[in-house]
Amino acid sequence: MTLAVQRLSRQFAGLAALDDVSIDIAPGEFLALVGPSGSGKTTLLRILAGLDYPDKGGVTQDGEDFLAASARERNVGLVFQHYALFRHLTVRENVAFGLRVRPRKRRPSREEIRTRVDTLLKRVQLGDLGGRYPSQLSGGQRQRVALARALAVEPDVLLLDEPFGALDAQVRTALRRWLRELHEELGLTTVFVTHDQEEALELADRVAVMNKGRIEQVGPPHAIYHDPATPFVCEFVGRTN
Ligand code: ADP
Repeated sequence: MTLAVQRLSRQFAGLAALDDVSIDIAPGEFLALVGPSGSGKTTLLRILAGLDYPDKGGVTQDGEDFLAASARERNVGLVFQHYALFRHLTVRENVAFGLRVRPRKRRPSREEIRTRVDTLLKRVQLGDLGGRYPSQLSGGQRQRVALARALAVEPDVLLLDEPFGALDAQVRTALRRWLRELHEELGLTTVFVTHDQEEALELADRVAVMNKGRIEQVGPPHAIYHDPATPFVCEFVGRTN
């Protein structure tokens, strides 16, 4: 299901956070949105998540209006840097949450929820920690729980905003590798926001470099790195030609 972002613009107090942004996101693709702080990455992700709306433009999924669906109806999984887990719920309860709050008709049975949560916890390598509370986990473990929670609703699209931003370098590197492997296993369309060009180049199938609300260049990592299209991209990826 191709997500077609078409000519999105979003202003805040007269300033363009997004300025006529278009991009097609292919099914199963891992796309990184990268750029300096304030370049519009989070605004684009929030619009895809249904947390914000554009002033102009739209998004379609296989020709259907993606933005018309409410955030709850839209089948997206979200992980933010500070998208905190519910502190009073165990790991298992956190992961099950999105399924438990579904309308009765679409809610799986208790047994199905239990099985699905077990499978997910194994998948994020937290099989033994289901009974713990978030305060009893490391930062990296918490983000893996957040990811399991996002995956529990079987989203069409996974939206990640600096999910490893608050973690130390070593944990970050390990989680990157792990996320890439998980992506290869699941083949889920993923949009990953980061200000870290190394992270984007390492993780993504395609990288969109953003600057001042626009996409300066989009392409596979090697093309962005070896053939930067503008002086901005050149500087951003740390090339000096
Ligand atoms: P990034 O994620 O690349 O750091 P953002 O999308 O968060 O960039 O922000 C893009 C621009 O829009 C920034 O100038 C930011 O200050 C502005 N902006 C974003 N959200 C809001 C908001 N809710 N109110 C006012 N300005 C905002």
